[in-house]
Amino acid sequence: MTKWGMVIDLDKCTGCQACTTACAMENNTLPGENWQDVLYYSEGSYPTAKLTWLPRPCMQCENPSCVAVCPTKATYKDMDAGGIVFVDWNKCIGCKYCMIACPYGVRFYADEKPVVEPDVRDVFPGTGQLHAPPYQGPDSDSVRGIGIQPKGVVSKCTFCYHKVSKAPEGVADLDEDNPETKEYTPACVRTCPPKARYFGDLDNPESEVNRLIADQRGVRLKDHTGNRPQVYYLGSGADVPAYQSPKKS
Ligand code: SF4
Ligand code: SF4
Repeated sequence: MTKWGMVIDLDKCTGCQACTTACAMENNTLPGENWQDVLYYSEGSYPTAKLTWLPRPCMQCENPSCVAVCPTKATYKDMDAGGIVFVDWNKCIGCKYCMIACPYGVRFYADEKPVVEPDVRDVFPGTGQLHAPPYQGPDSDSVRGIGIQPKGVVSKCTFCYHKVSKAPEGVADLDEDNPETKEYTPACVRTCPPKARYFGDLDNPESEVNRLIADQRGVRLKDHTGNRPQVYYLGSGADVPAYQSPKKS
């Protein structure tokens, strides 16, 4: 059975945020709703201070704590969909338990503190047509949390399931450079200028993602939580920097 996984090479990532922009455009996300983001950290202090960054999609955990806490079963992991974790917007009651339970901070409730006011959904309630604002993708699916986030629900990255689900069966990797698979490759992977992202089947021993994880000792973030992400990081900085409280002057 296919188990979709992503590999992000931090030695190649330049922190350019092209992935973030591509995700927002592909998924019609609202202001402040960054299903894919790049988080920046400053480490150390003068004269050895440095800026580092961490690209961060949903980890599509094998043992997702967001699913365990959801009282309505709106959040669910779909093994038939490559193990992707979805939010059923018809069932979500907006209690935000899942946002607290997720150790990676990848879930969004865009109504709480709108970054841009007034809310685009109030200004452009839409006519139900795909081309009318707020712009809907043609693959909207409220049971999988794909499309414009309605009010009062939580949203998150879906690994671009509306693209990935159309890939030829049994394919090991989805790759921008392969004309057979590029249309099915998640937007962030397809767009990444330095090609820091890879996407493929973790259950296929022939996949590039498996080779990279094995050869370069891929790590999963915060593995001690037991969530077991399906996203792996490569590179010398492949870990979340430890929090250091600011020095008192
Ligand atoms: S990263 Fe967070 S939201 Fe995504 S599956 Fe894991 S626990 Fe759930
Ligand atoms: S906010 Fe929605 S998805 Fe999250 S725990 Fe509550 S009901 Fe479930």
